[in-house]
Amino acid sequence: MQIASLGSGSKGNATLVKLDSTMVLVDCGFSLRQFKLRLERLSLSPDSIDAILVTHEHSDHSGGVARLASTYDIPIWSTRGTARCAFDDDFACHDLRGGQWVTIGHLEVLPVTVPHDAGEPVQFIFKDSKNGKKLGILTDTGHITSHISDAYNELDGLLLEFNYDEVMLEQGPYPFSLKQRVGGDLGHLSNSQSMSLLRQINKTRLNCLIAAHISENNNCRNLVAEHLGQLNGIPEPVLADQETGFGWIAI
Ligand SMILES: [Zn+2]
Ligand SMILES: [Zn+2]
Repeated sequence: MQIASLGSGSKGNATLVKLDSTMVLVDCGFSLRQFKLRLERLSLSPDSIDAILVTHEHSDHSGGVARLASTYDIPIWSTRGTARCAFDDDFACHDLRGGQWVTIGHLEVLPVTVPHDAGEPVQFIFKDSKNGKKLGILTDTGHITSHISDAYNELDGLLLEFNYDEVMLEQGPYPFSLKQRVGGDLGHLSNSQSMSLLRQINKTRLNCLIAAHISENNNCRNLVAEHLGQLNGIPEPVLADQETGFGWIAI
């Protein structure tokens, strides 16, 4: 299984997951033009995407999905709550439900319900049923529930949100209401919240760790790296970037 990102952060997200001949896209928060330019960096075209999975309706995740899907006739998978908030009524989506595995090509996909201020948000765990390897994606989550730490235990790969540093958010430029939103129970994961998840889960199989959705206003990459440096027994972390994302990484 492999993962790549076309960009990660509050200005747009798009993540690719590939297993054998199946390639799925998780979210598209970029315009069609931007998306194609970013995809070209990996020498890919939209025709090679088998499905688009949508985590939730916020525009940095769903903003480019409808146009991409209708232009290239790519099936969309989302929860009903997300579909209702993100797309027109006549837009056909395959249904996802939190906690229920689905099969898309060679990939097994588990949507995991997360606390975030959206209609019916989920994040994803992907499984290769041939060798049992698992890859988790977890961003746009307000806090770590026991449901999440159970689901994201014993993974081989993990892309994890490191959205903000508490002090930088508090002292930063956001208006008070937005600070409350980002730092609240239905907002985003702080560096320390993500570190606490990493401390809780069994990491013996973890060979790929990516820090993602890093805020350009309320966090800095050095701080994220510093936090991760405190943890023993983890692979060398990759920090995803808003502009460039990251290239293919094998799990
Ligand atoms: Zn987001
Ligand atoms: Zn969001």
